[in-house]
Amino acid sequence: MIRTDEGELRFPRDPALGGWYTEEEIGAAVTAIRESMDWRVGFRAKHREVEFEDAFARFVGAAHAVAYNGAGSALDMVLKALELGAEDEVISCGINFVGAHVSVLGSGGRLVLCEPDPATLNLDPQDVERVITSKTRAILATHMNGLAADIDALLDIAARNPHPEFGPPLVIEDAARACGATYNGRRVGSLGWATVFSFQSKKLMTTLGEGGMVTTDDASLAARLRRLRSFGKNIHWGTNLKMSKAQAAVGLVQLRRLDAMNERRIHLARQRNEWLDNTVPLSLPYEHADRQHVYYRYSVLVPPEWRGAAGTD
Ligand SMILES: *Cc1c(COP(=O)(O)O)cnc(C)c1O
Repeated sequence: MIRTDEGELRFPRDPALGGWYTEEEIGAAVTAIRESMDWRVGFRAKHREVEFEDAFARFVGAAHAVAYNGAGSALDMVLKALELGAEDEVISCGINFVGAHVSVLGSGGRLVLCEPDPATLNLDPQDVERVITSKTRAILATHMNGLAADIDALLDIAARNPHPEFGPPLVIEDAARACGATYNGRRVGSLGWATVFSFQSKKLMTTLGEGGMVTTDDASLAARLRRLRSFGKNIHWGTNLKMSKAQAAVGLVQLRRLDAMNERRIHLARQRNEWLDNTVPLSLPYEHADRQHVYYRYSVLVPPEWRGAAGTD
């Protein structure tokens, strides 16, 4: 708690920095700048970007990784690749980061909101089952606050509810808050059709404050995403959504340190559990035996009596 100038006690705001840097990241950024001073080389990212993408794909266990300038633009392009019509539906969780909703709205399809599971705060598979229709093209699962959503249940629902023309709805994962998290012994990023990660300043690892990545096993989606981020490569529409060389160089170092940084978060969360357990009537963050929570946020639920005066009748 911090005391304001007026003497009020306030809970401190979320930190603006999620991961943190060592001399190694600083060295990688400086090297990228120095190398770029060769007039024949410049700031072209190609080599470093491919190195970072390959390392990231190996880390999550996916066939392809495509770097972007952010998770928001990456998710926009994954949805664009679906070429949704106005009737097409995308199911997404009501409790979410606004960017996930905005991407669906911008894709031309219909956003269909679904309830969260009150324990995990992730998409509730039972409610997905209730809202899915023959117009559903995709299920967008945000791994809220660092705990993986129940992807197997979502894949199963999708398989049982195929779209008449396009087949089972595709499971897209927003893992902006879950870089390094696991699900049944696998890393998030190797489960659904496409998974989007963010390396923005507050996230679990960061590439100089902005950055993103998509992982997928679908070679044609990966090729499409590479064209979309680079003016369509003369094949179709595209724009410039590329990651810079210094960002990729720093990302390589952050990726190597990600598990160690996440360990610190997990340790702090366990300490908080001990401090809060039995002292106040809060619902502590849900832990699942087969899913490593990486605690992008340590979220607790307060009892209904604490809900305050909002929403009076
Ligand atoms: C941060 C965040 C994004 C957007 O990521 P950017 O890299 O900032 O574009 C999208 N979804 C979720 C759940 C996020 O937390």
